[in-house]
Amino acid sequence: MGTGEESKHALNLVISQLAKAKDGRKLKVGMDIDDTAASTSLSVRSLMEERFGFDFSSVGRKYDWSSTGATDRHFMEIYNELWQRDGREIAPAFSKETFTLLNEKTDFSFVSARGEESSEGLYRWVSNHYGVKARAIVVDPRPYDMHGIRKLEAGFDLLIDDSPHVAVNMKAEIAKDRALLLVDKWEEAVERRHTTNTAVVDNTEHAARVILEAHRVREQPAHE
Ligand SMILES: [Mg+2]
Repeated sequence: MGTGEESKHALNLVISQLAKAKDGRKLKVGMDIDDTAASTSLSVRSLMEERFGFDFSSVGRKYDWSSTGATDRHFMEIYNELWQRDGREIAPAFSKETFTLLNEKTDFSFVSARGEESSEGLYRWVSNHYGVKARAIVVDPRPYDMHGIRKLEAGFDLLIDDSPHVAVNMKAEIAKDRALLLVDKWEEAVERRHTTNTAVVDNTEHAARVILEAHRVREQPAHE
């Protein structure tokens, strides 16, 4: 993690990049679902504890939970089950008010690489928690999109994601004109490669405030 000053600088760069294009169109914003818009992992962990008796208390909020004895197979079984139940037990990571503002001020989509077969649960989750049928772009997860490339290819001006792998790919040619707000949810130190178009924010609400600030700056008449 950078210093407070460094992260402030990165945030200001992202805001000014987003504010630059005053061509009258709305900012095209994509928000990752798992652990960005929705607290998926926490819900999955709590049901894994209940169902299989694993104890996640020793790993806190770290990505690596292999010491609990739980495997990816356990995780995916519960993950799929929760979404098949329309994600009712999965808490949203930001408020309805914030969502309403983002949806109104930007060209907003949720984006997920979970595959079409799970998209119905995703649509219902959005409408249960936010009361609208929001746009959701489901990119093809096959081959497994570990590095978020397909999300970056979807052409957003700005992507909000919690995956440090996406941050690594911000240097790629396809990501050149895009910005990323990396939601810093997990305590584990994962290598983060900052680029001028990447900033780390504390949580999803913080990301939303940055986007709304960029929107405000775009709307300002130029002082000449
Ligand atoms: Mg995610």
